[in-house]
Amino acid sequence: MNDILLLKQGEIVLKGLNRKYFEQKLIANVNRRLARIGRFRVYSVQSTIYAEPLEDGIDMDAAEEAMKKTFGVIALARAAACEKDKDAILATAKEYLRDRLLAAKSFKVESKRSDKTFPMSSIALSQYVGGELHDAFPHLKADMHEPELIVNVEVRDYAAYVHANAVPAAGGLPVGVGGKAVSLLSGGIDSPVSTWMMAKRGVVVLPVHFFSFPYTSELAKQKVLDLAKELTDWCGRMTVAVVPFTHIQEEIREKCPEELFTVIMRRFMMKISERLALDNGCGALITGENLGQVASQTMQALAVTGAGLSLPVLRPLIGMDKEEIVTVARRIGTFDTSILPYEDCCTVFTPRRPRTKPNLAEVEEAEKALDCAALIEEAVKGVEHIKIF
Ligand code: ATP
Ligand code: MG
Repeated sequence: MNDILLLKQGEIVLKGLNRKYFEQKLIANVNRRLARIGRFRVYSVQSTIYAEPLEDGIDMDAAEEAMKKTFGVIALARAAACEKDKDAILATAKEYLRDRLLAAKSFKVESKRSDKTFPMSSIALSQYVGGELHDAFPHLKADMHEPELIVNVEVRDYAAYVHANAVPAAGGLPVGVGGKAVSLLSGGIDSPVSTWMMAKRGVVVLPVHFFSFPYTSELAKQKVLDLAKELTDWCGRMTVAVVPFTHIQEEIREKCPEELFTVIMRRFMMKISERLALDNGCGALITGENLGQVASQTMQALAVTGAGLSLPVLRPLIGMDKEEIVTVARRIGTFDTSILPYEDCCTVFTPRRPRTKPNLAEVEEAEKALDCAALIEEAVKGVEHIKIF
């Protein structure tokens, strides 16, 4: 039987004049993702996008999974296509939705027809299909208000489609409509989630990782690349910029007060990320910072960390509880990798008593012991770009 995917657009439909642009982006993203699975025809009709396989043997489960991770799709349904004839529609509903019809307690049929030459009205078609299904599955109660199962029938130009209730998908906005941003990606639980959250708002992300070899191992780097790989299902293909960070950390350790080590290190991360952002046409930085989670994430520490930057710092996790972050991490599939026990560069040379309320003037004074511009230049020159497929 001919299966197709119906993708419901979320917020895009509210976008007024930009709507066409948003929809085209979404269709382009859908096309790109489905092309890896097989040949599809993708087109939109009245805020629903149709993805129709053009060859036999396509793995439709894989296609459905890929579409559930495509931002901009709020819900999706898999539908069976059939001839535009009331008995063909009924037979398709019986066969295609058999398991759902057997499992449900109550149901109703909803019909739509964009082909106005179809000989029955939508109401008559619903009544016919509903009545016959009721006879065939006598345990089902007809419920017009809160049915467990909705049998949808759509009569369109070339075919009729039958499908059950749509299931929720990723939501958000199509990746690409929200601009580009550099995302600071560590190997922890938080930053994959913050990266995902901004991609969900349509942002193309460029992950940047600060790597302190040999204090942190190749395995720690591989873990970050694995996280990036897991994120590509949602965010699209990415190139991770790995910044050599060892020399900077050693310099800070040698020349600055121990209790300011973390905040100065984080200021370097921000400045280098901003440089990479500006070099790559990005409009913001993204971090997984969260108010009060650790000493470097007090309000004062965040202020000093971000002082002097010209780009906005987006911190989508700022007000979330750890438990909420973990729930998202599990849902998007990064949690198990995040908890692998490899060290992060932030845990190298961690001060015994980090300053929780650093003072900007004092920090700037301490930084005078360093040749910041040269250190940043050296780090940027040493960046390794790793394509993730
Ligand atoms: P995470 O779980 O993301 O590691 P965290 O709670 O451990 O976060 P910190 O280590 O203080 O918090 O880091 C705060 C944020 O700084 C991270 O969420 C990430 O955006 C960024 N960051 C930290 N370490 C690195 C790194 N090695 N490379 C890139 N970004 C980093
Ligand atoms: Mg971390």
